[in-house]
Amino acid sequence: MVGEGQLAVPAVPGLGPPSHAGTATGAPGAGLRRAVIALDVGGTDIKSAIVTRGSDPDALDEILVERVTSTRAADGPGASVAAVLAAVETLRAEVPAGYQVLGVGLAVPGTVDESAGLVVSAENLDWVDLPLRKVVADATGLPVGFGHDVRAGGLAEARLGAGRGAPDHAYVSIGTGIAAAVVLHGQVYVGGGYAGEIGHGGTHGGAPCACGGTGCAETFASAAGIARSYRELTGATADEVPGSAEVLARAHAGDTVARQVWDRAIDRLGELVADMVRLLALPVVVIGGGLVRAGEDLMVPLDAAVRSYLTIHPAPRLVPATLGSAAGTYGASVLAWDAVTAAALEAL
Ligand SMILES: [Zn+2]
Repeated sequence: MVGEGQLAVPAVPGLGPPSHAGTATGAPGAGLRRAVIALDVGGTDIKSAIVTRGSDPDALDEILVERVTSTRAADGPGASVAAVLAAVETLRAEVPAGYQVLGVGLAVPGTVDESAGLVVSAENLDWVDLPLRKVVADATGLPVGFGHDVRAGGLAEARLGAGRGAPDHAYVSIGTGIAAAVVLHGQVYVGGGYAGEIGHGGTHGGAPCACGGTGCAETFASAAGIARSYRELTGATADEVPGSAEVLARAHAGDTVARQVWDRAIDRLGELVADMVRLLALPVVVIGGGLVRAGEDLMVPLDAAVRSYLTIHPAPRLVPATLGSAAGTYGASVLAWDAVTAAALEAL
């Protein structure tokens, strides 16, 4: 698994064959170290990086250059597409000497159909049926790997992080929303872009959700939902309680409303994980997204909640994600290397 993407690529005319990353011979003209450009496109920011891959297949890809730029979402969908292309071109102009960029990887939010290279919809960016993979491939002339941000994060955790060595597992991202990447036989299941949207549906009442439903898990059990629920119940302002960390701190200080909000979220998250285990008997579930920064305050009660919802199924091993907020960037990088490999194989 991990070794995929490290196949030799065809020789580049005039440059000789690119040497395997991390094994540059130093001989004149012997080759350049391989690199890709990875973009984690969010609702407001684009995290972009030039990434190279070392000779140790178990080592993390190395980030050479990193940038954060605005998606310019307020300026309309065309502007945010232009912002993506500009982020790629900016980094191409900053490639360190001795490296050659061979591909681009994109991790994007919304409903994303990887096989079609299509953003079906991305609310925050006002993108609908946008063939983003082709747009970037046409603009750059490079192979482009393309995927959903949470599935890309799950792919990175599977190859490089907490999911390594577990061919069947799920990665659950609990941040602004709640979504999962389901990994079976080492492959992330896509379902036309709809797989893993566990944060939506399941109730008939409660707070309105961005999806159009009401009472969805992510309205009260995501990191953002925890903070929002607490503010609604107490009248606290967003300055006082900007996120779930402040709710947790108040719970520790004896605030009973904060404790109830936190416990209700954990209970629902436990139920969601148990639902996945009932269907797929997953032995490992990787927990990621911003909420995982709560550490044992999340992981210990979540484990208990999952077990409380299971009867005959063995409880999964819950493990915190290891790539943190860089999971999307590493995910985009994995997608890029896979695209480079696929293009090299096609050229044979
Ligand atoms: Zn919803």
